[in-house]
Formats: sequence, structure tokens, C-alpha cells
Amino acid sequence: MIAILALQGAFAEHQQMLCRLGEESVLIRNLADWNSFISISDCPKGLILPGGESTTMMRLMKDLELLQPIREAIVGGLPVFGTCAGLILLDHDHLNTMDIIAKRNAYGRQLGSFEISHDIKGLGAIPMTFIRAPYIAEAGPNVEVLSTYDGRIIAARQGQQLVTAFHPELTTDTRVHELFIKEYMISAK
Ligand code: GLN
Repeated sequence: MIAILALQGAFAEHQQMLCRLGEESVLIRNLADWNSFISISDCPKGLILPGGESTTMMRLMKDLELLQPIREAIVGGLPVFGTCAGLILLDHDHLNTMDIIAKRNAYGRQLGSFEISHDIKGLGAIPMTFIRAPYIAEAGPNVEVLSTYDGRIIAARQGQQLVTAFHPELTTDTRVHELFIKEYMISAK
């Protein structure tokens, strides 16, 4: 069962992707949604933080009193997958559960949005869609780099936390979501 933070941004696309994979998901719009997700037991669980606008998502999480419970769950071992703004939310200056510093809107105006086909460790080449994307400017010793592009880190893992600067949910390639389910959620149990 995967919770998708659904305050803003590209949460519906993640849900469609999970639907295609036959994985159940629930949208988190408030604290009551979160509490009922947390109370579910006896199945592997995970959380997706989607792309969107990280400053807005941060403010809404605070206003809705979701920030601390979500942070505590991740620190307690809940597998989490952050895409784009979701990557930013996990960095040192935000939820601070991953030992990374994200650089926001990192590709400049010319390259605000672009698509490439590029390797990610363990999967080979996959289509990657970047939309005003960040990259990881600094990563601590416990962070495993899964992909770099143009000398910048664009995908990484730390324990049960997976982040991509790009948006796998905006393509038809389901492999990154499958990787998260199999390698982060199921094997984390
Ligand atoms: N630039 C956005 C931010 O800083 C992230 C963009 C995205 O998620 N597509 O939040």
C-alpha cells in the first residue's frame, strides 16, 4: 500500500502508474488520511512525494500538521520515493531525512524542461523527463548515487529512501516504480 502526498503537484500521475502496476495507493490530503494510512498493518507500505512546487508543499505540510508525522515515519523506516520537488523535500534544508543538499531549478532557463534517455543503476536506460528540475549538489557518505547526468547527481538512494530529479510518472516506463516496490518496500520488511 503506497501513500501519495496529494497536496499539490503531479500526484495523480503517480497514482495512475501504481494502478497500472496493480499496486494499491491512497492519496494523502490531510492528517486524517495520514493517520488511517499509518494504522494499516500487515502489508508492505511506502510513501511517494511527487513533483510540484516544494515551497508550497512544505507550507501545506506545516499548515496541515503533516510535517512531523511524515518525517518521523520516514526516520522510523517507512520507504519513501521522492520525485523532483519530492527530492527537494527530503534534503537537508527541508525534512532532512536524507543526507543531501538539493539545488533547485538547477538547469537554467534554456533547459527548464527536457527529456533524455539515460542510465540508472540496476535498470539501464530509461526515459527521463525533467521539469524545472533540481539536482543533488552535495551527498553524504551514506548516499548511493544511482545516476548522474552532465556531472550532476540526478538519482540516489539512502537506505529505504529513493530520489529522482526527473519524473518517471510522466512516462509509460514503469521500471522505477517497480524498483521502489520490490527493492525498497518489500525487501525493507
Ligand atoms: N522547481 C520545483 C521546486 O523547486 C520542482 C519542479 C518539479 O517538481 N517539477 O519545487
